[in-house]
This record gives sequence, structure tokens and C-alpha cells, in this order.
Amino acid sequence: MVVRWSHRCPWKAIAQVSQNFSPFVLLVVGNGERIRFWEDLWWGNQTLCSQFAGLYRVISVKNLTVSNVLGNSFPLSWNLNFCRNLTDSEIDLLQSLMSSLSSVLFSPSLADSREWSLLSSGLFSVKSFFLALSKVSNPILFLPAKFLWSSKAPSKVKAFAWLVAHGWVNTNDKLQLRRPYKSLCPQWCILCKGNGESIDHLFLYCPVTIGLWHKLFNLAGLTWVPPRSIEEMLVIAFKGLGNSLRGKTLWQIACLTLLWMVWQERNNRIFEEEGRTEEMLWDLILFYSSLWASCTAAFRGVPLSVLQLSWKAVCVSKV
Ligand SMILES: [Zn+2]
Repeated sequence: MVVRWSHRCPWKAIAQVSQNFSPFVLLVVGNGERIRFWEDLWWGNQTLCSQFAGLYRVISVKNLTVSNVLGNSFPLSWNLNFCRNLTDSEIDLLQSLMSSLSSVLFSPSLADSREWSLLSSGLFSVKSFFLALSKVSNPILFLPAKFLWSSKAPSKVKAFAWLVAHGWVNTNDKLQLRRPYKSLCPQWCILCKGNGESIDHLFLYCPVTIGLWHKLFNLAGLTWVPPRSIEEMLVIAFKGLGNSLRGKTLWQIACLTLLWMVWQERNNRIFEEEGRTEEMLWDLILFYSSLWASCTAAFRGVPLSVLQLSWKAVCVSKV
């Protein structure tokens, strides 16, 4: 896999998941012309190069296909090409390799193919891959998943919050790394006109943003100690407005709306040279959270004007 790294290149992102992706792909030998004998996983549950590492070290040509090495009919041709004579222990290894492969079946008329091992149909599905990844990968990557994706906020807001949780938003510190000559004020946070703009600063610690978070927690009647990072903030998934369906729905929406509004404000100030006060921002967060929540089933029958007046009262009243 050769990837020319460039920050815009979609292959970069694709290549990054390939390490997680390949273990679930089964290679099915047909004529053996496309599968690499040593390096691909096509026989047993590990690659032959790791299972027979002692032999792999002394073969002279790597990346040969199965048909290069074995031919594709019986008797197998065994073109292994070692670069020196084998020692006794290597000969033992070779014998066990040969006996392990004695039951290989070829279908010379069929091309080699791939099957997705997680489903009996052999066909890939995003859902099966996602479920498998959420078991094997760093769980913190997936923890905000439920909080974010089960939220009833608009999809664009959820997708944006997902980028924030994973640190994939182009804040100034990132732009500075990518385009050092184009970022004029890399250390500048347009909201507080001070500290460097990183994801944790912009969405959590910036005095403007933290003021908004405090307002949100105050509204719910909670005292709040900021977590270490915005990722942690989303992982913790506070239930600020209680455990009722309304409470959970509105709280999720409000957290995501806050992130969304901070980003909108940051971009407005940079690109449109317009700025709002913290009060106006807070009013917008209240308004859009209420609006988006009022469109959900949990708040059916609650007029927007009532919801806007008191979140807490509406959330504790019986659904
Ligand atoms: Zn700031």
C-alpha cells in the first residue's frame, strides 16, 4: 500500500482504516493469481509469513502470488526459492508448511476473490464493520457515538459535533501545521482575542465558550467542573435535564447546539467580520435548541414559546 500523503487526499483516510478493515476480509483462492502467498491471509488464521517467519526470512523473492509459488493444480509445484540452504530447524518448518498446505483447493477457472467475514452472505455492510470496530478499537473513539447520533439535533449539527469529538475541525493550530505560510495569526482565538485556538480551547476553555457552558449548566441548576478535553466532555454525557425522555432529548440537543453556535460565531467573526455578544449567542443557543427539540416526538404538543420560557419545567412535566 503506497499512499502519497497529502492532507486533502481521501486515500489518506481510506488507508488509515485499512489496517482495521483487512482482518475482516477473507481472501478466497481461485486461480491464486492475485493473492500473495506469504503476506496475505488466505490460509488458516494467520498469514504464512508470520506463522512461518523462520522460512519467510530466507526466501529470496517476496510478494509472490499463490500461483507463483504453488502453481494452481496438483501436484503443487513449490517454487519457494530460498536464498541459502536451509538449516535442520528450517527444514522442519518447511515440512510442516507443506503438510499444512496439502489440502489447499484451487479453482483454476475462477479469479481470486474477497469475502466479508462478518456476514454469512460474504458481502460488506457498514453496520457490521462499525459494530466490530466498536469492540476492538479504542473505546473512547466510540463512546460519544450514542450521545451524538441518538440526539435529535439536525444531521449537520450532529456531524459537526462528531468532527469536534474526534479533533477533526480546522482550528488555527491545525491550519498552522498544514499551511504555515498562510496562517497569519496562528495563536489568535477570534472569540476571546487571546490564547491559541485549538479544539479544546475553542469549544471548552475559551472564556466566551466556558461562559456559555456555565450558563447551560446553571440553567439546569448544576455546578460544573470543566473536564480536561472536549472529547471527555462529550464522552461523559451528563444528563443535565434529568432522565426523562424530554430531559435527555433537550440536553443532548442543547450541548450540540452550543458547539455548533460557537463554530458559527467563530466563522462569522473571521469571514464576515460580524460579531455577536455572548448574550446574543446564548439567546441563539436557547432558541435553536428549543426549536429543534420542539420538532421531536418527545415535545409534541408543547408550543415553542412555552418550551423557550422554561426548559426545566417542561422537562419535569409528565410526557
Ligand atoms: Zn478564545
